[in-house]
Amino acid sequence: MRPYTLAALACGALLGGFVRTSDAQPSTRWPIHAKDRPQPRVVRPPAGETTVAPPADAIVLFDGTNLSRWMKGDGSAAGWTVANGYMEVVPGAGGIVTRDEFGDVQLHIEWMSPAVVKGEGQDRGNSGVIIMTKYEVQVLDSYNNITYPDGQAGALYGQYPPLVNASRPPGEWQSYDIIFHRPRWDASGKVTAPARVTVLHNGVLVQDNAVLSGPTAHQRRPPYERHADRLPILLQDHDAPVRYRNIWLRDLERPHAM
Ligand code: MG
Repeated sequence: MRPYTLAALACGALLGGFVRTSDAQPSTRWPIHAKDRPQPRVVRPPAGETTVAPPADAIVLFDGTNLSRWMKGDGSAAGWTVANGYMEVVPGAGGIVTRDEFGDVQLHIEWMSPAVVKGEGQDRGNSGVIIMTKYEVQVLDSYNNITYPDGQAGALYGQYPPLVNASRPPGEWQSYDIIFHRPRWDASGKVTAPARVTVLHNGVLVQDNAVLSGPTAHQRRPPYERHADRLPILLQDHDAPVRYRNIWLRDLERPHAM
């Protein structure tokens, strides 16, 4: 085999094996929270709400009536309010986690930024859907609100800006549909498959099988450390009265027998 054929094969193997859509712009190519990283193009989502009722095999985490499936991280009662079919962050109460633990999931969640606009940048309607308590899909009021691109709504915080900005105005319901695959390790603790995340924001693709470099964090990109295969989902209290409703998931590792 001629050298260039080998090279082409090697290149093909690399492309086939490692280069996915989101790797075209690896998270580590840009410094974390770089303000000069290109701002995602604004794409107005379809009018109306992008709500999806839970399919037959879904686990309903919040149906608008109570927080029985949620608690604080220390096991005490979730201190958020529930009214009118939604839950609302009580600033200062702390984040809430699911009582159950999950690995690979298809997660649907609806959220609303406060109708009364307050603050700017990261200080406007900040919250987050933090899968396995480690991998954050950012929730932020990113409607006419500039911040560092890897920290806006639909970002995988500190790593990937959304592909486009599909935000609705504050005071309107928005949705995330998230497909998450947890990292895998071998027996020695070496990562054999990093975590991967796909996100639709209001029905618009904003993360396309993005490969996480490790847990998400503020101002740093920590490496993976071996963790349990199943961990809770965390909703973040970031000092803004963000609302959530219609939260359900499909457990992709425990498909229900029919
Ligand atoms: Mg956040």
